[in-house]
Amino acid sequence: MSAARGLLAAASALALLLTGCADTRDTAHTEKIATYTDPPLPAQATQLPSDAPPPPETGEDCGDPAASLRPTGGRGARGPSLDAIRARGRLLVGLDAGSNLFSFRDPISGAIVGFDADIAREVARDLLGSPDLVEFRSLGSADREQALQDRTVDIVAKTMTITCERRTKVAFSTVYLRAGQRVLTMKNSGIDGIADLAGKRVCVVSGTTSLDRIRREQPAATVLTVPTWADCLVVLQQRQVDAVSTDDSILAGLAAQDPYTEVVGEAISVEPYGIGITKGNDDLVRFVNATLDRLRRDGTWTTIYNRWLTSLGPNPGPPAPTYED
Ligand code: GLU
Repeated sequence: MSAARGLLAAASALALLLTGCADTRDTAHTEKIATYTDPPLPAQATQLPSDAPPPPETGEDCGDPAASLRPTGGRGARGPSLDAIRARGRLLVGLDAGSNLFSFRDPISGAIVGFDADIAREVARDLLGSPDLVEFRSLGSADREQALQDRTVDIVAKTMTITCERRTKVAFSTVYLRAGQRVLTMKNSGIDGIADLAGKRVCVVSGTTSLDRIRREQPAATVLTVPTWADCLVVLQQRQVDAVSTDDSILAGLAAQDPYTEVVGEAISVEPYGIGITKGNDDLVRFVNATLDRLRRDGTWTTIYNRWLTSLGPNPGPPAPTYED
């Protein structure tokens, strides 16, 4: 190659590089991503066999699953698990470290922030005197119950739906947010809701209510399971799936990260979120319920909602608690 042709090649490579970096949101760039074939799937991704029968309804009936223990005692309340946390000086909180809007790392401060992180910090404020006395442990959706059973965390604050089946393994606080399962897809995909997912590929996270529901409500979809909802956004962007289906709250956090995606269709479920707590730690359940009660009454719940979740719609106000005794 002559020196002049070499120079020309280098210059055009540089120009390509520069234009490639100039605006990652231009359409040409997006189309380039779209035609990129066969990128690798995230680790632990599994395609469920298309003839796998949908999971059976568990038939577990615990009355109102969202009814929880009445708060007692306020900040000075005593009990074995409360005393153990005070002796340690830190509240161990299990959450997803990459869930936009709920629990994710603020790129400037490096702190884990979001709706769930803020609720957990309020428990630490009441129990230990400072919202900063928390230690966050990263959990996948499928690890939540086990982490509580193994006592590697005191509480789980991770968009966790209260169900009768889960209540056989762990305890829950009262409801602190209500979500509903919907669908995230690329804009103009032609998908308008769950009914359009027949014959389509859908990403969901294993160990979730979203997985069970999509398999029951849309058995004609091909389901890809991955460890986290952030993984689902990546495989959607790579066009390895046509849609992601989970709670509207989580989907709002994904949609905020990619303007080419949108949340569609009606909600097909009601997902009451509770703070997960090790079964038997009734003192901690009552304590967390006292904190949630304070947040509902003193306006903190509204402040936290307005800080993170207004993309879900106007503030609906905190869900009213129900108590079992
Ligand atoms: N709310 C659903 C559940 O608890 C999905 C939430 C999540 O994966 O974090 O299974």
